[in-house]
Amino acid sequence: MSYDPLFTNLAQTHCPYCGVPITLIIDPIKVHQSYIEDCEVCCRPMEVTTEDGQLIDVKREDD
Ligand SMILES: [Zn+2]
Repeated sequence: MSYDPLFTNLAQTHCPYCGVPITLIIDPIKVHQSYIEDCEVCCRPMEVTTEDGQLIDVKREDD
């Protein structure tokens, strides 16, 4: 799967479970979205919230 950098935003954050730095790919087309992303390191699910192509929040799914 490849992404065109002209149409995607990258956001740097940290896994809310293990603290590893992660890069999220945000779809700037969607005004507001919330989805589950699995950490590449600890494989636990985090809930990612974005708005207008910006990262708003990353939290543990069990919070
Ligand atoms: Zn993790």
